[in-house]
Amino acid sequence: MSSTPPTERPVPYVRFPHGSFECTVVSDGILEMGAARVNFPTANPEDIDALLTVHYLPTENVRLNQNVLIVNTGDQLIQFDSGVGIDPELGRGFFGPKTGQAIPNLRASGIDPADIDIVAITHTHPDHVWGLVDAEGTPLYPNASIAVSREDFEYWTDLSRIDSAPNEHMKDHFRGAHKNLMPYADSGRIIWVRDGSEIAPGITAVATPGHSPGHIVYKVESDGDTMITWGDLCHHQVLLLQHPEWGFQFDYEQKAATAQRWRIYDLVESNRYSVLAYHFPFPGLGHLKKDGGGYAWLPSEIELRLPPETIALLAH
Ligand SMILES: [Zn+2]
Repeated sequence: MSSTPPTERPVPYVRFPHGSFECTVVSDGILEMGAARVNFPTANPEDIDALLTVHYLPTENVRLNQNVLIVNTGDQLIQFDSGVGIDPELGRGFFGPKTGQAIPNLRASGIDPADIDIVAITHTHPDHVWGLVDAEGTPLYPNASIAVSREDFEYWTDLSRIDSAPNEHMKDHFRGAHKNLMPYADSGRIIWVRDGSEIAPGITAVATPGHSPGHIVYKVESDGDTMITWGDLCHHQVLLLQHPEWGFQFDYEQKAATAQRWRIYDLVESNRYSVLAYHFPFPGLGHLKKDGGGYAWLPSEIELRLPPETIALLAH
């Protein structure tokens, strides 16, 4: 693949143990989403701005991180979602040049995309699957199979839905999912995932339809440690933990999405599981605790690891 321009500053990656598994989180960049009242449309604008202000967060530009998790089980490398990708007509063109950084940051962490065995997809929205192929449609994970729910695959790769999509960006949702998933499907490299599917020893799918027709969160269990990696179950570390019912502008079915949030928050909190949250501040690892009528985010302490070239620079 063609090389990608460097980012403005070295991007650290995080590596931490989870039972006997080794986990790495790399950043795909940050999505600048604009005003909170647009992204969380059912909230009272005054309430949402007040809650953000209390938490020292801007009201006019919601920033969503893109935390890509890679789990080394010892036998296999499993990556979760792929970021927005490097296609100038799709992800990077829409989300800006600071995004689409998953592959270079993966390499900086010492992981070759050719060594990834499975890319497990939470759902097939742009910021989760548009990084599977390059602009020419060539798979960026040449040896990986793609684990995805049939519901999401069939809905979002259905090009007949383009005509009725309300705007160009929504039309691209279908075009982009088709472009990124079909090369893997055509070569027989799709693993169909449903509730309870074990995609690798210790890694199990939990069906959470709502944000997308076939949204999946994954339970990662090793030696008594359990983590939920939850894609777009929850987009924001304050707003949708405190108020799951405020929903997100791209929720496919907001009532169902809200019910899934409450269900998984309770599962996580009552069992003291850890969470790897795709869109929370990097690297998105933490726990939940009950707080008022909702939940609060407790980021985990982790040791940051810098890319080797940065460590070499610091040594001089
Ligand atoms: Zn997302």
